[in-house]
Amino acid sequence: MRKNIVAGNWKMHKTHSETIALIEEIVLKKQNTSTEIIVAPTFVNLQTAVTISEGNNITVAAQNMHQAEGGAFTGEISASMLTNIGVNTVILGHSERRAYFHETDALLANKVDTALKHNMRVIFCFGEELKDRQINNHFNVVEYQLRDALFHLQKSDWSNIILAYEPVWAIGTGETASPEQAQEMHAFIRSLIEKVYGNDVAENVSILYGGSVKPENAKEIFSKKDVDGGLIGGAALKADDFLAIVNGF
Ligand code: PEP
Repeated sequence: MRKNIVAGNWKMHKTHSETIALIEEIVLKKQNTSTEIIVAPTFVNLQTAVTISEGNNITVAAQNMHQAEGGAFTGEISASMLTNIGVNTVILGHSERRAYFHETDALLANKVDTALKHNMRVIFCFGEELKDRQINNHFNVVEYQLRDALFHLQKSDWSNIILAYEPVWAIGTGETASPEQAQEMHAFIRSLIEKVYGNDVAENVSILYGGSVKPENAKEIFSKKDVDGGLIGGAALKADDFLAIVNGF
């Protein structure tokens, strides 16, 4: 059975003290839920986030990671640096990493391999730009992104993969894919996985939707059959909004 997951990508927001305050508020206000709650603060605050989250059913994820085991890569963070402080989940391929830091699917394939080698879970982000959707090329774009970054994996690797479909035109824009558009793409993604890896992998992989999910629209998006949760940006920065989204299931 696949899991429902709501993950907050905090991006370059929240200082150390703000990180403590936000996680403490989430811990205080959250209700019992079978939905996995993930928070992804910036690197410098991960260790503190792990300490406060421990025993509170909150998973801490990193927002990025380097593909090399270590070495002369100034400013970068390795998989073992993350796992050593108890961070075992990493977001890879976010559209901001692709757009501003030129991350390609080939590079992301390496990052995914490194993360899996370290037994980490990967939240793999992908999605089309507006120009692709306008010319009805969005299914092709998504198929190529998955093929180039993930379809070299073994069947067994998929237990550590979480997919996050994030149409770029919906990220941070206030514009959301309609629940029907999300469902249509999620069903397409699941059918692709089924074609390559079979029904058991397809049925067990969680596919999150990301792009301007808010308390007002979460419930309807999450009600769709192939939507297993959300990757949340802006609305993850306030405990009440984030928890209202979590409660959308
Ligand atoms: C994101 O950055 O992954 C995201 C979905 O952002 P927002 O919710 O702000 O659109």
